[in-house]
Amino acid sequence: MINLELPKKLRASANQAHQVAAQIFRPISRKYDLAEHEYPVELDTMAAMVDGLSDSGTQKISGAAGGRSDEDEDPATMPVNANGGNMSALLNALETSWGDVGLMLSIPYQGLGNAAIAAVATDEQLERFGKVWASMAITEPSFGSDSAAVTTTAVLDGDEWVLNGEKIFVTAGERSTHIVVWASVDRSLGRAAIKSFVVPRDAPGLSVARLEHKLGIKASDTAVLLLQDCRIPKDNILGSPEVNVEKGFAGVMQTFDNTRPMVAAMAIGVTRAALEELRTILTDAGIEISYDTPANNQHAAAAEFLRMEADYESAYLLAMRAAWMADNKQPNSLQASMSKAKAGRTGTDVTLKSVELAGAVGYSQRLLLEKWSRDSKILDIFEGTQQIQQLIVARRVLNKTSAELK
Ligand SMILES: Cc1cc2nc3c(=O)[nH]c(=O)nc-3n(C[C@H](O)[C@H](O)[C@H](O)COP(=O)(O)OP(=O)(O)OC[C@H]3O[C@@H](n4cnc5c(N)ncnc54)[C@H](O)[C@@H]3O)c2cc1C
Repeated sequence: MINLELPKKLRASANQAHQVAAQIFRPISRKYDLAEHEYPVELDTMAAMVDGLSDSGTQKISGAAGGRSDEDEDPATMPVNANGGNMSALLNALETSWGDVGLMLSIPYQGLGNAAIAAVATDEQLERFGKVWASMAITEPSFGSDSAAVTTTAVLDGDEWVLNGEKIFVTAGERSTHIVVWASVDRSLGRAAIKSFVVPRDAPGLSVARLEHKLGIKASDTAVLLLQDCRIPKDNILGSPEVNVEKGFAGVMQTFDNTRPMVAAMAIGVTRAALEELRTILTDAGIEISYDTPANNQHAAAAEFLRMEADYESAYLLAMRAAWMADNKQPNSLQASMSKAKAGRTGTDVTLKSVELAGAVGYSQRLLLEKWSRDSKILDIFEGTQQIQQLIVARRVLNKTSAELK
């Protein structure tokens, strides 16, 4: 039976993340929205707190992450409630994103690549990479959604892999200490040959070509990276170097089982921020939001609020379920995509609707509502767009292959 009750330890860690969001992020949120590409120095001063957050966050996902390799395990023999690293990381992401999504994406040692490492690294690799700050580089100039179209190559040369290619839109690509890069070890073997590699920032042949200017999350650096005969140690490949054509793409795709609920949590955090602000605005305007009166008997704005709050609750529960399943070693690809699809569209809907319901003040820079409506859009795009999540859900529910339903 699923049990989503939060153990005391998780509540304490989420509370700590909330304090960081309220006391450090919110006060500097507008400053870095207006100063794109400027490094948020305040993040350095919170290093000690981040240490605490990461101790209870992504680092502990190790071994707890669910994946297809565990499909044979009998859920009946598993602990009823093994809430752990995934759920803790999810709650931390949610709380810090309530503060500011761009700053959350800039927290050292909490990158999307960290979740990917935690999902598939061996114990030895976790020793080496458990405490790095890892970004995630999949997208290339020739593709975004179709992650099987990777053209970056990795060729083994003695004790080193030699990587060549270009990666675009890499979140924290300039600031992170390591980058998880998707590359093909043999392009003639198709998607099965795509593997992920941990590339240290100072690896020879790796460079940042430029940073992007964006609609939102301006506090977060988004980089174009060039890999030109970039050399990394042989054992920096995540998972097996063998190309298993039967298993296909499953190895690298497993990383999404961890990262998608995390992105869902970011969307849920910014959604909650907008709902809280909107509730204050509506209350100040004398509009009562009642839980005892049918929505059709309330002010139209209150009825909208209730609808959006219901969406928020369902997005939260879907994300918690996906994280719970990962912590309990249950395959969660379907639920990870469901949670990201629901949270991604709820985030964009609620933040933009809140701007609308707040009127002119919602559109102005006096509040953060307009900023949140810009910040939330990316959460429905990266780590798989809304349409791609829906496609994955449809394939799984209808039992269709990617060739049958595209
Ligand atoms: C700010 C930012 C940060 C990012 N960070 C990272 C990062 O850290 N690492 C990384 O690797 N990438 C990152 N990305 C890239 C992101 O993951 C891609 O933009 C995303 O996967 C979509 O790819 P695309 O932009 O090429 O769009 P496309 O794949 O060209 O899609 C365009 C539109 O078509 C739709 N579409 C595509 N295929 C289908 C289909 N089969 N059925 C229905 N609709 C479809 C999409 O949903 C979308 O609406 C980032 C992007 C941005 C903007």
